[in-house]
Amino acid sequence: MKVLGVIPRGYCKGVIRAINIAKKSATHHKPISILGMIVHNQYIVNALEELGIHTIDGHGKTRLELLDEIQEGQVIITAHGASQEVFDKAKEKGLEVIDASCLDVIKTHDLIKDKLKTGYEILYIGKKGHPEAEGAISIDKNKIHLICQKEDIDQVDKNKKYIITNQTTMSLYDVYDLCEYAKQVLNHVEIEKETCTATQIRQEAIKNIDPAVDIVFIVGDPHSNNTQKLAAIAKSSHDFEVHMIESIEELNTEWLKGKTYAAVSSGASTPTYLTNQIIHYLQQFDENDQSTYPKPHIEKDKILNNG
Ligand code: SF4
Repeated sequence: MKVLGVIPRGYCKGVIRAINIAKKSATHHKPISILGMIVHNQYIVNALEELGIHTIDGHGKTRLELLDEIQEGQVIITAHGASQEVFDKAKEKGLEVIDASCLDVIKTHDLIKDKLKTGYEILYIGKKGHPEAEGAISIDKNKIHLICQKEDIDQVDKNKKYIITNQTTMSLYDVYDLCEYAKQVLNHVEIEKETCTATQIRQEAIKNIDPAVDIVFIVGDPHSNNTQKLAAIAKSSHDFEVHMIESIEELNTEWLKGKTYAAVSSGASTPTYLTNQIIHYLQQFDENDQSTYPKPHIEKDKILNNG
């Protein structure tokens, strides 16, 4: 089968940094916990667990609440960042804090703090319950408003001065629509788009994919916001058949029948190994040759390679 490996795809600099920080910490012989999933990928979480790095995760719990479950040792703050309250509480508990926040997330926090000081309120386009949005909004819960849809913009006082910014992994196209709407209905709004470069160039590559492709695979964890956005952009921009899969185990060979040209991309938190495994499998796949159907096993010790 002909296969297009979409470029760029996969690990971004923030994820590589966070994984490397975690791997390095594993040599310190102290209890190590990660506050939430280091990146939204269960394979990486499991591989780190094998190295003795325990992930504290609880659906619906904030980073601040999750800290109650760590009593000693080191705590790693994930690439999504965290609020100052989290850093303060960890220090009060005597925990050693290792900060793996992505520098692009910190940049957005700095922008928000600067604008608050100069009298603006913030409209933050993000995903409800996402740790990155939680960290940003906790900078000032009274003056930062989470915007998930146009109706949220309708709820704010139209006469205040606003900066509109966003979670780094949001869809460029959704952010554009919400910014345009805010400009129409609010009296004073300035735009500071913060979709990170890694997210932006991966989304643009999907939007501009070769139209001759007849099936698209987006590899990534279903909890990964940037993976979901890539799949949504692929579906909305073309007539391709699009499948979001976590690994080769979820690839159904029935989907490949009658297809000749596949494209593969992956979220910024997807292990390179898992994506490459799918690309290699598709390249050798021949619908008329049963010997090409069996799928390879996932070798767990390769998950953190290239990380
Ligand atoms: S997607 Fe962007 S903001 Fe998020 S970790 Fe990667 S580089 Fe950083």
